Amino acid sequence: MAKYIDAHCHLMSNTEIVRARELGVAGMICNGTCPSDWGDIVRLVQNNNDVFGAIGVHPWFIDDLPDDWDLELRKTLIANPDLMIGEIGLDKTRPNIDTQISIFIRQLEMAYELKRVVHLHCVRAWDLIMHILKQNQNKLPPLFVAHGYSGTPDMMSKLISDYNFYFSYGERALNMPRRIQQTPHDRILVESDGDVPANVVGIAMRVASIANITTDLIYENTTQVLQNG
Ligand SMILES: [Zn+2]
Repeated sequence: MAKYIDAHCHLMSNTEIVRARELGVAGMICNGTCPSDWGDIVRLVQNNNDVFGAIGVHPWFIDDLPDDWDLELRKTLIANPDLMIGEIGLDKTRPNIDTQISIFIRQLEMAYELKRVVHLHCVRAWDLIMHILKQNQNKLPPLFVAHGYSGTPDMMSKLISDYNFYFSYGERALNMPRRIQQTPHDRILVESDGDVPANVVGIAMRVASIANITTDLIYENTTQVLQNG
């Protein structure tokens, strides 16, 4: 049976995990959004060999953060060496961009210090992200996954060569086939971006056909990401 990995999903029920497995989903990368879901992700990862986790503060959930959120994040990451950091990033359609930036940079520093893969959320803020990456050139994580990538093809090649980016595509990206076609084949990942990882099977088939590659290659690409983590 063909195998798939969901490169970006969120907390899901055991029923959904089992259903995804039955369809060939051999891995799921479950992303956190705020301190209150980190514990659930840690438990999910501990209880399921095929669930991988990323924890962090999403730019939509920066209000009401406890003062010591970063200490708590660092402590949880150190206690769980396989956890990645995500989903984190910047979103210009949401308020308080300055606070978003400082929270994002703090998490980037942690990703560098603890050598963790970063799962990135970026909406209309690639100019800011590029600037921050450049300023922190020598203090960056080993690898980034840009989820639902929305930047230009030109930027894509710079992100790959300078910062080791992979690009994960979900339902919405299927409406932008050129972006998928312009992505180097060895950097393409697929995602459900929700709590139904079984959805990634259909998405993988359609992304593979748009890019003219096999779903096996997409699976291999995602194992590369997990080995770097
Ligand atoms: Zn997400």
